[in-house]
Amino acid sequence: MQKYFNRANIYLVGKQVMPAEEVQRFLDNEADNWITDTDNAAQRIPELAGRVCYMSFGEKQGRKDNASYLGHIMSVGHGSVLEHAVFSLLLTGVSRSLTHELVRHRAGFAYSQLSQRYVDETDAQFVVPPAVQGDAELEKSLKDFCDASLKVYGELTDKLAEKFATPEGLVDIALREEQLAEGESGKFTFGEPVEGHDNLSIADWRSRVAEDENVAKYFKKKTIRARRKSAREAARAVLPNATETKIFVTGNVRAWRHFIELRGDIHAEAEIRALACDVARLLKNEAPNLFGDYEIVTLPDGSERTRTTHRKV
Ligand SMILES: Cc1cc2nc3c(=O)[nH]c(=O)nc-3n(C[C@H](O)[C@H](O)[C@H](O)COP(=O)(O)OP(=O)(O)OC[C@H]3O[C@@H](n4cnc5c(N)ncnc54)[C@H](O)[C@@H]3O)c2cc1C
Repeated sequence: MQKYFNRANIYLVGKQVMPAEEVQRFLDNEADNWITDTDNAAQRIPELAGRVCYMSFGEKQGRKDNASYLGHIMSVGHGSVLEHAVFSLLLTGVSRSLTHELVRHRAGFAYSQLSQRYVDETDAQFVVPPAVQGDAELEKSLKDFCDASLKVYGELTDKLAEKFATPEGLVDIALREEQLAEGESGKFTFGEPVEGHDNLSIADWRSRVAEDENVAKYFKKKTIRARRKSAREAARAVLPNATETKIFVTGNVRAWRHFIELRGDIHAEAEIRALACDVARLLKNEAPNLFGDYEIVTLPDGSERTRTTHRKV
C-alpha cells in the first residue's frame, strides 16, 4: 500500500444523463422544437433549463449552438441554471487539512468523508505538502513525525481498549450506548435478557461483570463496536493534518466553478490549488462548454493556477 501521496487521485464517479424521450415529450406537448449541437447531458441540461425561463424554442430559439448559449448565460451571470447539472468526484490521497478547507464550500455541495471514528487508522497514509516534496531533509522530518504519530495512535488505541474492557469501562459504555437501559426504580436491564442478571443496580452490574466471566464476555461482545469507536475517536487526536483521507463530493456546475475559481487562485493553499487545477482539467475535458473558459497556467515554481474571464457566474 502506498504510504505517502504527492497528488490527489480523482475518480469521476457520477455524472448526468438526460432521457431523450422525456425531453421529446416536453417538446411535443409544450414547445415545438429545440435545436442544439451537443449530446453531452451536463451541457444540455442547463441549456434546457435556461430556455424554459424564456420558452425560447422553435421560432424563438435564437442561438443554435450549446457553447454560445452557455457562454451567454455565463457572461450575463445567469449562473443559477448551471445548478441543474452535477458531477460527483471521489477524491483519495488528499490530506485532512485539504478537506477541512474543501468542506467550507457550502452552497451546492454534498460530502461523505471517511470516518476516523469507524475506520481504524493504524495503517494510515499521509500526504506530503507540495513545498516539502522533493526536499529529502524536509521529507524525512515529515515522515519521521508521521511514523511517530502512528506509534502513539497505536499505543493510545491499545491502552484505551484495555481501559474500556474493565468491568467499570464495560458498564459505562453499555450505559452510554443505551444498551443498558433504566427500567423501574433505579434498576437497569439489557435490551435482551441476560440470564439471571436482569434488573440490577449499576453497582450490581459492575460486580457481576467483575465476578462472572460469562457476563463479562457478553458485555465485551455487545460493546465491541462502541469500544473501538471510543478508542479511535480519542486516539485520532494525535494524527497530523497530513493524514490521508477519502471524500465523496457531489457538486453542481456552479458550485464546482466557484470552487475552481477560489481554490485555483494564487492565494489558495498549494495542495488544494493543485486539486482545483486537476478538477478544472477533468471537468474542462468532460464538459468544455461549461468549464472551457478555465485556463490552467504554470507558475515559475512549477505549480499551477487557474484563470477565467467569467468570474463567479
Ligand atoms: C485564499 C483563501 C483563504 C482563506 N482563508 C480563510 C481563513 O483564514 N479562515 C477561514 O475561516 N476561512 C478561510 N477561507 C475560507 C473562506 O472564508 C470560505 O469559507 C470558503 O472559501 C468558501 O467560500 P464561499 O463561502 O464563497 O463558498 P460557499 O459556501 O460554497 O458559498 C458560495 C457562495 O454562495 C453564497 N453564500 C453561501 N452561503 C451564504 C450565506 N450563508 N449567506 C449569504 N450568501 C451565502 C456566497 O455568495 C458564496 O460566495 C479562505 C478561502 C480562501 C480561498
